Amino acid sequence: MNNTPLVLDGVAIAGQIKAEVAAEVQQLRAKGTTPGLAVILVGHVPASEIYVRSKVKTCGELGIYSEMLTPPESVTTDEMLKIVAELNAREDIDGILIQLPLPKHVDTKRLLEAVSPDKDVDGFHPVNVGRLQSGQPGLAPCTPAGIMEILRRSKLPVSGQNAVVVGRSDIVGKPAAMMLLNASATVTVCHSKTRDLAAVTRGADLLVAAIGRPGFVTREMVKPGATLIDVGINRITDVAEVGRFFPNDTARAATFAKRGSVVVGDIHPAAFAVSGAYTPVPGGVGALTIAMLMQNTVTAAKLRRGLAAGKS
Ligand code: NAP
Repeated sequence: MNNTPLVLDGVAIAGQIKAEVAAEVQQLRAKGTTPGLAVILVGHVPASEIYVRSKVKTCGELGIYSEMLTPPESVTTDEMLKIVAELNAREDIDGILIQLPLPKHVDTKRLLEAVSPDKDVDGFHPVNVGRLQSGQPGLAPCTPAGIMEILRRSKLPVSGQNAVVVGRSDIVGKPAAMMLLNASATVTVCHSKTRDLAAVTRGADLLVAAIGRPGFVTREMVKPGATLIDVGINRITDVAEVGRFFPNDTARAATFAKRGSVVVGDIHPAAFAVSGAYTPVPGGVGALTIAMLMQNTVTAAKLRRGLAAGKS
């Protein structure tokens, strides 16, 4: 039987979430609370600048107050700690986001741990990692939380499914595995030391790839009909590689001609054809990250005021 796979449209789902967040913000504002997000952007990293601008713009669209702090590249860890302490103490700021990467001389780990767990909208603080693990209300990392929203809103089964997560980073793989476990999937986590990875991935009803290697998961590695969640964002600049990944794809060829690069995920596009459902790249998981950040900011505002049960 040859079914057409369901394309999981991250842009559309992000739109739904943003509309819901905007409605919630309106209700909170009517009661006198405006959720507020502070974003700290150090120095001039063009990719980070684009990303931060987009976060600030989305805040404006949804009625969330936002503030951008832009310390110079030369900022010290102590100066950054002072900025974070001031934001921790401010009543009008519910979420603090430190845009990564930071310059090498700044102690990233120390800074992330200095953010109040109740304002940690990235969900990276060890306290929030622990809350996620123990199923307590807290702030969960945006990318894996976005994956769970895609699955939930697309009514794809999770409970009892064999879920395989390839990648064990603190920001994607591990929290994604924990969220899937909390949702009663049977979870296997793979990494670079996993033996016979293909045998493991072929057993997955639900496969999450967060590796950082273009097209790494091939068609032979997936079970026909599986749900494929592709977290990878890899930019390819070699025309031959573009042709290899996307043969006869005129839209991608046009993008490459215009920009000199195209984006490919960690799952080979040919594998999508045998799946039951998949997230495209771009337009899948990546499209949800900012929407989830906005949702986390509102959750933080509500949790701080005892207005929410939170999510895990
Ligand atoms: P990361 O920190 O580099 O982690 C990569 C993981 O993949 C590691 O656990 C590594 O295993 C594993 N891995 C590497 N090579 C492997 C191999 N040959 N076989 C099996 N596992 C292997 O990456 P990340 O931050 O999680 O990001 C992963 C991808 O997601 C990247 O493409 C990134 O750009 C993308 N991403 C997207 C979003 C978004 O959509 N918003 C957000 C974050 C990241 P070891 O632990 O053994 O080294």
